[in-house]
Amino acid sequence: MEIYADNAATTKMSRTATEAMMQCLENQYGNPSSLYSLGQRAKEKLELSREEIAAVIGASPKEITFTSGGSEADNQALRSAAALGKKAGKKHIISTAFEHHAILHTLKALEKEGFEVTLLPVHENGVVRVNELEELLRDDTCLVSVMFANNEIGTIQPIREIGALCRSHGVLFHTDAVQAVGHLPIDVAADNIDLLSASGHKFHGPKGVGFLYARRGVRLTSLIEGGAQERGKRAGTENVAGVAAMATALREAAENMEANAAHLLPLRDRLIAGLREIPHAELNGDAEKRLPGNVNFCFEGIEGESLLLLLDDRGICASSGSACTSGSLDPSHVLLAIGRVHDVAHGSLRLTLGEDATAEEVEYIIQNVKEVVEHLRSFSPVWRDLESGKAPHIL
Ligand SMILES: *Cc1c(COP(=O)(O)O)cnc(C)c1O
Repeated sequence: MEIYADNAATTKMSRTATEAMMQCLENQYGNPSSLYSLGQRAKEKLELSREEIAAVIGASPKEITFTSGGSEADNQALRSAAALGKKAGKKHIISTAFEHHAILHTLKALEKEGFEVTLLPVHENGVVRVNELEELLRDDTCLVSVMFANNEIGTIQPIREIGALCRSHGVLFHTDAVQAVGHLPIDVAADNIDLLSASGHKFHGPKGVGFLYARRGVRLTSLIEGGAQERGKRAGTENVAGVAAMATALREAAENMEANAAHLLPLRDRLIAGLREIPHAELNGDAEKRLPGNVNFCFEGIEGESLLLLLDDRGICASSGSACTSGSLDPSHVLLAIGRVHDVAHGSLRLTLGEDATAEEVEYIIQNVKEVVEHLRSFSPVWRDLESGKAPHIL
């Protein structure tokens, strides 16, 4: 059995997206900036894809800029808002402690450039509180950046309320919606979003391509100098085939969104219920306000890395912490942000189901996680101390 349960790290390209990519590589290989018809056919494909993508989030095509992925879109969104803020003499930015590193590291860089950053707490359920955000808003706040859904614990944030609050205070609002686009309904107008980042490979499109939505009137700063592609906001010959495949994947995801959620929710909840039977285990993040396929647990007395390796032996692809940090010994900053202590945060497991997941696979995962956790605990000195009462149980 081979079960891919790491869809928050990346997804498999859908068949239709792969076909759209091949078709484009073979037939629209011209440079969209070239004037002959082969080039113009590529240009048409690009603009058609832009229209399709814009429609899914309720934007207009001119508000969509293609990027190399979610990280670049995040960098460009923050740098653009910071540049606009600086011009207006506003250098305070509010974000949260559990953002993706593409956000947190860009904020660190902006701090070095003289911006002041305040990180909002996310509480034990992994959800920000809008009233606490309101208290942090200042006259010199130029930007609020809060992710739509967290990539590790899957918790969904009150985006529409945050957007309304920012709009009423005249502060730009950016959301890293990489985990949400194609999975949750998004309407940039109703949600009061000024800037939004997305990535193709998180909704069954290709890796290395994404987009940034910037509301009309929000001027983007270019990160890459060169040609005048993307209305001068992103130089470099466009990834036409990648964009076409991303648009196809997004259209498909949007069409099937309700059906996918209806299929995934009972599987997710069964997985949560099954893993809760393990003693001294706890779900990370709110049980309801979370992505349809996301399950994230902490188990006392074990190491997440060992758990992953043993699950891999049994054909289960899962994750502990985020893909970017696993391999380092630091526990996940997301789990620390929701108040898990270091020891417990180390014993975490993230399972993110794909839309093709089955009930049999979920039962197989539950059974195998139970066995592996029990096995690891049987020779864990930490677990021995907990069980003998030498150290107190936390979970
Ligand atoms: C994956 C991810 C990113 C980075 O996207 P890339 O396309 O891999 O650069 C950013 N933010 C979140 C929340 C993500 O899950």
